[in-house]
Formats: sequence, C-alpha cells, structure tokens
Amino acid sequence: MDVTNLRSKHGIIHIIGAGPASFVAAINLAKTGIETVIHEQKSEVGFRFNSDFQGIENWSTDMDALEFLTSIGISINFLCEPYSVGHYYGPNSKKHELTTSRPLFYLIKRGTDFDSLDQGLKKQAIDYGVKIEWNDKIEKISYPITIVGTGPRAADVIAKGIIFKTSNPDACFGFLDNRIAPKGYAYLLVNKGQATFATVLYEDFENTQSYFQRALDKMRSVVPIDVIEPKEFGGYGNFVLNNISRDNSNVLLVGEAAGFQDALWGFGLRYAMLSGYLAAKSILTGASYTQLCTEEIRPLMETSLANRWLFAHLGNFGYGRILNYLTGHKDIIGLLRKQHEPTRFKRVVFQLAKKWYHTRLIDKQCMHQNCDCIWCMHCKESSRSEEVTAA
Ligand SMILES: Cc1cc2nc3c(=O)[nH]c(=O)nc-3n(C[C@H](O)[C@H](O)[C@H](O)COP(=O)(O)OP(=O)(O)OC[C@H]3O[C@@H](n4cnc5c(N)ncnc54)[C@H](O)[C@@H]3O)c2cc1C
Repeated sequence: MDVTNLRSKHGIIHIIGAGPASFVAAINLAKTGIETVIHEQKSEVGFRFNSDFQGIENWSTDMDALEFLTSIGISINFLCEPYSVGHYYGPNSKKHELTTSRPLFYLIKRGTDFDSLDQGLKKQAIDYGVKIEWNDKIEKISYPITIVGTGPRAADVIAKGIIFKTSNPDACFGFLDNRIAPKGYAYLLVNKGQATFATVLYEDFENTQSYFQRALDKMRSVVPIDVIEPKEFGGYGNFVLNNISRDNSNVLLVGEAAGFQDALWGFGLRYAMLSGYLAAKSILTGASYTQLCTEEIRPLMETSLANRWLFAHLGNFGYGRILNYLTGHKDIIGLLRKQHEPTRFKRVVFQLAKKWYHTRLIDKQCMHQNCDCIWCMHCKESSRSEEVTAA
C-alpha cells in the first residue's frame, strides 16, 4: 500500500505515553509518512526515571542488542556503552569476576538528561515528524486506532536505589543475596563519574527501605567507592501474561502497559521496543498484532517466567553454587543465551510457573468501577482473553 493510501486508511495514529515502546512505534509509523501524535501526561520525557543507568541486555538472543535496535529502526543517538566485565558477589561476599566475549549489556541512561535513551528517542521521533502533546493525560480513548504505551500498571517487582557521583572507574557489580534483595538482585553501575546503585525485590515490598539499607551496607563493605551527592530513586515493573490486544480491538497495548516484561530480572526494554515495532508493523502491513506478539514476544515471556520460577527456588545456597559454576567458564554469554531458549524443559517448568505466578493486577491509575475508561476496558479485555486462552 502506498503512503497516500495508508494515510487515508488510518488517518492520524494516536499514541498514549512517551516511553520507549511508544517511541519505537511512532518512529516506524512516521517514517512511512503516517501522521502520528503522542500524548504524554508529563511536560517532558523520562520523568518516571531519575538519570539512573539501566542495561539493554545482550544475552537473550544471538543477535547483538545494537543490531536489534537497528533492525527495529532505531539509531544510537544516546549514551550506549558496552560492558563486558562484571564483578559479582554471592551471599558469602566472595567476589566472582565474569567476562564475556561480546558485551553482556549496553549501559544506557533513563530520564530527562540530554544523553538519556528517552531524549534520544524523542529526538528521532520529532525528526521524523511525530507530534508530541505534553501535559496531556489521557483517561478515555476517543481515537479510531490507538497505541497505548503507558508503562506498568502494578508492581510485581520493586527497585529502590540511589544515583551519585564518584571517582571510581567505570565498572559493573552485581549482588545475589535474599537478605538484601529477596528473589532478586542488587546492582552497581559506574560510568564516567556517575553511578547507580539499587536493590531489586520480588517480594516483601513493605520492607523495601530496610533491604535497600542492608544492600547499600553490603555493597560498601566489598566495593571501596566514594558516594558523592546521592539522590534517591525507585520504580516498579509489571509482568502480565494473556494481555495481548485482540485483533478486533482498535487499542494496541505495547510495552509494560501490555505486561510485556522479562519475568526473570525485569529487563523490559527490549520487550517494550519490540512490541512498539510490532504494533507499527501491524498497522502498516495489516498483519495481526495478536499473532505477531504471540510469535515474537509470548515465547520469550513464557521462558522468562520459567526462569523466574527456577531462580526464585534457588535460595542463597543456590546463588552461591551458580556463581561458582559461572566463574569456571571463560565466556558466559552462551550459557545465558541457552537459558532463554524455549526448550522442552522450559516449557514443562513454565506450566508450573504459570500456576505459581500471580501478577498484582491492580491499576494504580484507576479507581473506577464499571466505567469505560481505557483501564477498565483493558481489564475486561484482559480477563476475557484469559478465558479464551484457558478454553
Ligand atoms: C528502576 C528500574 C530499573 C530498570 N532497569 C532496567 C534495565 O536495566 N534494563 C531493562 O531492559 N529494563 C529495565 N527496567 C524496565 C524498563 O524501564 C521498562 O520495561 C520500560 O521503561 C517500559 O517502557 P514502556 O514504554 O512500556 O513504558 P514507560 O517507560 O513506563 O513509559 C510510559 C510513559 O507513559 C506515560 N503515561 C502513563 N500514563 C499516561 C496517560 N494516562 N496519559 C498520557 N501519558 C501517560 C508516562 O508518563 C511515561 O512517560 C527498569 C525499570 C525500573 C523501574
């Protein structure tokens, strides 16, 4: 279909939320000449974050993460640095140095800073002609085709941390210990005099502050690092299965609004951006969004949930064993890669994990009952699609 036909077929595409999932969708639509408008509730991008570092993981696919970004139409105009060496500590505080043949992850920054991922994506979108309506919180959908990329709707995982300045050289540190991060991990990332330290919890959220304090104490007991001008930050993530928009709906849910997340460790960025790309592809080609997500995202999510179940049952003893095992290997990329394949074993574990896992499907943005706002409509759709899957 040529551009004129596409334009007249779809009119303006409205996208709610200016996160990575929405931007990838917008960029790919606007590139083809489709008029695209993003509605963002805040006055800028990246307000959900606070200049904290995140990682675009590079272990779950054979394709390098940078190649992946290119394949979904994204250029690197933001801070994006490869990290191949990491220092990891188990519950007994023994240090394990692990190296990889290709970057384990690419460090990026989130938030409003000029070099953040959020600002980079915003610039690419604007350059392609995407319009952004700021301070525009959408509570009810009244557009013909709408992409909803409004981020997590509930907290299945919580992160609490600090960003700070330091004289420490660039480095990556990870910590596995249920006393500081129940069923999760803590991390310290340093890049050019700036650092991010956080603990990531999968349970016992009421005691987040104490876990964070213990995590910080543990980190400082093993890493001699100066912490200058610390500022707190925090956030949460949401993993939901069976949330993929149905094809007869004019609402395409992308990113964490759809529950697309890595259940194992919360590396949701690749899921978010991939889903934005698939939403654009579905609009441009007429392919079923449900089918695209079922083929390209669902298997990753199922395997990640199986991995979460396995990880959650390791306990402190298991973490130590795993780190010892990994240390004996020259390059852990292949080992990690293998864990993300939907093997028969992972499919069996997934069946257990599916029964065990319960998302906290509470929408923090909605207090309505029986109304037709997007959130309530979405909940109805979600429970209906669960019925369909179960049948
Ligand atoms: C502390 C923390 C650390 C993380 N670290 C990593 C990591 O290292 N690697 C990784 O891959 N992932 C990480 N994640 C997960 C990753 O940040 C998310 O998966 C990703 O940001 C989801 O993108 P999104 O586009 O779905 O939504 P978001 O990035 O949440 O963007 C949603 C946007 O929608 C806007 N919005 C919401 N409601 C409305 C409304 N009603 N109207 C208009 N606008 C609205 C919001 O203001 C926001 O700008 C981390 C998450 C947290 C919290």
